[in-house]
Amino acid sequence: MNAENLRALDRRHLWHPYAAASPSVTAHPVTRAKGVRLTLDDGRELIDGMSSWWAAIHGYGHPRLDAAVRDQLGDMAHVMFGGLTHEPAVRLARRLAEMTGLPKVFFADSGSVAVEVAIKMAFQCTGKSRLLTVKGGYHGDTFGAMSVCDPVNGMHHLFTGVLPVHVFADRPPGDYGLRPGTSRDSAEAVPDEGYLRHLEAMVERHAGELAAIIVEPVVQGAGGMRFYHPAYLRRLRELADEHGLLLIADEIATGLGRTGELFGCDHAGVRPDIMCVGKALTGGYLTMAAALCTDEVAERIGVLMHGPTFMANPLAAAVADASLSLLLERPWRDEVKCIEAGLGEGLASAAGAPGVRDVRVLGAIGVIETVDPVEVEKVQGIVMEHGVWLRPFGRLIYTMPPYCAGPGDLAAITEAMNAAVAALRS
Ligand SMILES: *Cc1c(COP(=O)(O)O)cnc(C)c1O
Repeated sequence: MNAENLRALDRRHLWHPYAAASPSVTAHPVTRAKGVRLTLDDGRELIDGMSSWWAAIHGYGHPRLDAAVRDQLGDMAHVMFGGLTHEPAVRLARRLAEMTGLPKVFFADSGSVAVEVAIKMAFQCTGKSRLLTVKGGYHGDTFGAMSVCDPVNGMHHLFTGVLPVHVFADRPPGDYGLRPGTSRDSAEAVPDEGYLRHLEAMVERHAGELAAIIVEPVVQGAGGMRFYHPAYLRRLRELADEHGLLLIADEIATGLGRTGELFGCDHAGVRPDIMCVGKALTGGYLTMAAALCTDEVAERIGVLMHGPTFMANPLAAAVADASLSLLLERPWRDEVKCIEAGLGEGLASAAGAPGVRDVRVLGAIGVIETVDPVEVEKVQGIVMEHGVWLRPFGRLIYTMPPYCAGPGDLAAITEAMNAAVAALRS
């Protein structure tokens, strides 16, 4: 299909995320993705600073992951999971159980569905149907997940009266992580005692009606790319235990090394009762997520009333297992540390620049928060001129590169971000 045709048909038929069906701007056709690079139809190569929304942690077209899909395809692409099982699912579940300490695994076909299942688990387990979360969160776009997204920025106004009303504590103070251009880092961050008291008061006030507390551990992702002190998560775990509530950790963005620990919960040394994983689970190859829980939760639930058609898809399970095996074999902790250092160095000059409110880095996540909302197309144009792919939103110009991004790639990404900052003034 020629490029012009492709663009026209895309505009004619396709919805893109959070967009009108006939958007004013057209999407860029990609013809190839290899390593950390995307190739566009006009031949341009872009360093991918987004990992396809946190997913492609090993980069694109990794030989081990390609082989895992191909080998599995030789046996079977899919079979139903009702009454049947298969080795890819069993292997992956065993590996996830070992990695998380949560032995019961429910496979879902997307992160949002995993969150729905986690919520369903909590409701079925406790017989209660209210949740406590914090403002500024993001948990997905389906209705149950949306109901615990930030009440102001999380689309609640579009669906008032349809979404269940849950309990929202204030947004955690976002003072964790590295502040480039200063010597401040996570080790020096001190939890805000006032905020800890607020969490205690909120849980105590509502404990009687609550099934669970649900949060993204340490990093609030799509709700604002903010990093909060692990002490808040630790206190939520204690409060959940004191009041007989479940703790649901949504690790869909934070899981699998992105924050510098294998899971966000590891920063706080806590184990949740229920955990969601997704995004990077298959290394960015296929859509798969999971909700995991303890034996106790599973026993209390009994029959869990959920069953996606494509549950535990063998192709996705096979590539997920290969991706986790690759992750655990490679020095991911050092790689993420190097990325953290590279982003810290590269973004230092943005700190204090006109139009910039905050610059922060944690693990393989680098964020420039601007004073005013960014013009997405303009910023995207600038970073693309610098040979980089980013997708800013709101007041955020941010990156979470593949773990295999080298020093040159990181320099290109941060230079592109700095160029976007320089253009804020004009
Ligand atoms: C992306 C995300 C989801 C939703 O996952 P999808 O696969 O897009 O449905 C849920 N929770 C968090 C924390 C996420 O970052």
